[in-house]
Amino acid sequence: MDWERIKGKTKELASKGLDISKDLAEKGIEVAKEKREQKKLEKQEMEERKRQEEQALKERIAHMEREGIVYCPKCYSTSLSANKKGFSFGKAAAGMLIAGGPLLGAIGKNKIEITCLKCGYKWKPGKK
Ligand SMILES: [Zn+2]
Repeated sequence: MDWERIKGKTKELASKGLDISKDLAEKGIEVAKEKREQKKLEKQEMEERKRQEEQALKERIAHMEREGIVYCPKCYSTSLSANKKGFSFGKAAAGMLIAGGPLLGAIGKNKIEITCLKCGYKWKPGKK
C-alpha cells in the first residue's frame, strides 16, 4: 500500500470538500444578501404606501373639517347614524300627542348619540 498516495488523495478530497462548502457558504451569503435587499425594498415600499395613505387621510380630514362634515373620530368614516339615547318612537309620539309639543323638543340636544356604522364607535356631537 502506498500510504503517501492515499494521504495525498485524502488531502485533495478534503480540500475539495472545503472548497465546495466554501462555495455554498458564499452562495448562501449572496442569497441572504439578496433576500435582505428584497425585504428592505418591500419595507420601503410599504412605508411609502403608508405615508401616501396617511397623506390622503389627512387631506380627507381637512376637507371634511372645511365642509363641516361629521366623521367618525376612530375610523374617519362618514357613514354615521344619529340617534337619541334610548329613543322610542312610540313614547315620543305619545308625548307629542299629550303635550302637543314638537317632536324635536322631546329630543334633548345632549342626549343625541352618533354611531359610526362602520366601526360601531359611539360619541356625542360636538365631541371627539
Ligand atoms: Zn368608525
